[in-house]
Amino acid sequence: MVTGGSRGIGRAISVKLVSLGYHVLVNYKSNEKEALRTLELIGEAGGSGELLKFDVSDNQQVDAAVNKWSEEHKEDYIEVLVNNAGIRKDILLMWMENAHWREVLDTNLDGFFYVTRALLKNMLVNKYGRIINIVSLSGIKGLPGQVNYSAAKAAVIGATKALAQEIGKKNVTVNAVAPGFIKTDMTKDLNESELKGMIPLNRLHPGIHHMLPVR
Ligand code: NAP
Repeated sequence: MVTGGSRGIGRAISVKLVSLGYHVLVNYKSNEKEALRTLELIGEAGGSGELLKFDVSDNQQVDAAVNKWSEEHKEDYIEVLVNNAGIRKDILLMWMENAHWREVLDTNLDGFFYVTRALLKNMLVNKYGRIINIVSLSGIKGLPGQVNYSAAKAAVIGATKALAQEIGKKNVTVNAVAPGFIKTDMTKDLNESELKGMIPLNRLHPGIHHMLPVR
């Protein structure tokens, strides 16, 4: 399962998982058209997948979707979870409203918690699981204008380390990946010339369009 698989990094991960032989469950929140496009790309890559629509920040939606899928697939379980769904709402802390804080924490942090908890039991029972959390450079070094996002991603990094120690012995690993800047919908309003100075290659990663066949 890849959360936020309808666009950007989640789409690229979904298609990549096909080459490793996985049937991919593509989660998305609302963008059905793009989610269907990811499914199409999975098909073009020679794989199979299905869409699972739910809001990762809504505990009830997460549990309902996961329980329904499990009921319909009694012989299977979800052995790989990529917690990728994320949003940012950049603003200086001085001007930050409760909603800027809440929405970013709800999606990036609570989303990790709800989805991981929902899938973990079956990974433990089956003594195999892989959990990969997509975090960010912001959660490591902090970035101005992203106090909310940096806090959420740093929290997921802490949670990754703690959970890895809880369940490693059961052959369920938990890792975090912190990408640098990648061209996706999330970064399209950022000032590239300002940011690329932070990057050794002096450029943003060209993103999914670089990795996938052009439409
Ligand atoms: P993106 O292009 O904006 O795509 C975001 C994805 O997350 C979409 O599939 C979206 O679904 C989904 N999503 C958002 N809120 C959701 C929710 N509440 N429930 C379920 N799905 C939700 O973002 P991206 O750039 O690919 O980023 C993916 C992850 O990488 C994020 O966690 C981000 O923080 C992290 N990251 C990105 C960069 C970068 O430079 N792009 C760098 C470091 C880390 P819909 O299509 O339905 O809206």
